[in-house]
Amino acid sequence: MALLPEMLNFVLIPLMAPGHMIPMIDMAKLFADRGVIVTIVTTPLNAIRFNAVIDRAISSGLPIRLLQLRFPCEEAGLPVGCESADTLPSYKLIRNFYDAAKMLQKPLEQMLRRLQPAPSCIICDKHLTWTADLSNNLQIPRIVFDGMSCFTQLIVHHLYISKVHETVPESEPFVVPSLPDRIEFTKLQLPGMFNPSSLDVHDIREQIRVTEKQCYGMVVNSFEDLEQRYVDEFRNIRGRKVWCIGPLSLFNRENLDKAQRGNKASIDTNQCLRWLDSHKPDSVIYACLGSLSRLTPSQFIELALGLEASNYPFILVIKGGEKTEEIEKWILEDGFEERTKERGLLIRGWAPQVLILSHSSIGGFLTHCGWNSTLEGICSGVPLITWPLFAEQFFNEKLVVQILGTGVRVGAEAVVDLISQERPGMKVMKDEVKAAIDMVMDKGKKGCERREKAKKLKELAKRSVEEGGSSYLNTTLLIQDIEQLVKKNKQSTQGSFIT
Ligand code: UDP
Repeated sequence: MALLPEMLNFVLIPLMAPGHMIPMIDMAKLFADRGVIVTIVTTPLNAIRFNAVIDRAISSGLPIRLLQLRFPCEEAGLPVGCESADTLPSYKLIRNFYDAAKMLQKPLEQMLRRLQPAPSCIICDKHLTWTADLSNNLQIPRIVFDGMSCFTQLIVHHLYISKVHETVPESEPFVVPSLPDRIEFTKLQLPGMFNPSSLDVHDIREQIRVTEKQCYGMVVNSFEDLEQRYVDEFRNIRGRKVWCIGPLSLFNRENLDKAQRGNKASIDTNQCLRWLDSHKPDSVIYACLGSLSRLTPSQFIELALGLEASNYPFILVIKGGEKTEEIEKWILEDGFEERTKERGLLIRGWAPQVLILSHSSIGGFLTHCGWNSTLEGICSGVPLITWPLFAEQFFNEKLVVQILGTGVRVGAEAVVDLISQERPGMKVMKDEVKAAIDMVMDKGKKGCERREKAKKLKELAKRSVEEGGSSYLNTTLLIQDIEQLVKKNKQSTQGSFIT
């Protein structure tokens, strides 16, 4: 007899950073909507960020539970209350942050041993490498959530094998071998694992690589129509189970869920919607460079002046961090906000990004190409103005600009150093920002073609998560896979654990 889906309990263990927690909360809703009990492991301050969304999901009948663990900031040498990577005063503390997360293993193991129904699998962020031991100790399969596209996965794989980037000067383009398309990068554009910076986390990266290889399977926040050849290739090289179940942001169907996703917005949602309503369709540029990046004041000024020079209405999200005061001083003294107040909206802090992007007045998204933002831009059907900063963001830019044909680069040429947030000797200038915006908003043949492509992708994304779509089917396959595994392990007389 097949196990009933309600007997399955998926335990989700996200990394405590917005770009990692947000898609996993969406994922919780997705599985719960398909009848699986979902237990989300989190910490008190992160729970506060998500309470509104989760409580609403639970009230609507979805079987979601929160399992809260104290985050040991003090023991790990972190300031009190630093429970999410975006609240770290500096990236210098990232090792302490991982140490604190690792301390969750023991208490979590004890709690999971008592959990009813027993966990059927854990789905955990790849950065939480200790979950490999947790899965072994508890004898439950571990599925890794990587948070990136299959395009990126393949590039990373082929760079590790070929080491082609090690033999060229750092600003000289090289071709990544064995990919379905001809893809070029310079070493300066590569993420830290191939392009070391002042952040010394080589050992953590190595551990991530090793433990990722040992997992039962992987869930990917992407959809097959977006990057089919890369999905196929990645499945081939992995020889393991890869389930593309995204775009996960589409599991926020109500305005309230979109508005409260990830954090409390620092602007009144109705005011934001009224502002958007007052603009024509496809006319506004939304500029937000993710949750973690902190532009240097001089780089922020170029972005702001570029937006001003472009003459389109805009929303600019400001995340100053340590440099907030300096940035605010410039805004005031230069008169930027005053000069642009008729057509510019500044959001200081957390923007309700998905709500904004789903408004018809948005005509272009200036993004740092974090994978979540990239996908959210794709789901909104607008062309992207790409400004990659670090990690795998140059890979996402390449996918959008070269493969999908829905983006225009501002011309960033090198990853920023995560600690200083600077690109040595390099800055994107206001004229480059203006030129990229003008190209994206162009009503000529090329601009219209780009916009048409973006609109088509939006439709494909939507279809993939609807009943019968590829992501819908992949979700079914993943649930069935775990169902079978649980059944086999229950029936096994030897009691040996199959993964
Ligand atoms: N985000 C948001 N409001 C903000 C900044 C970010 O809602 O003011 C969300 C955004 O929608 C995305 C996530 O935070 O879901 C950022 O993830 P991404 O992978 O794009 O970039 P990261 O922040 O990890 O660099």
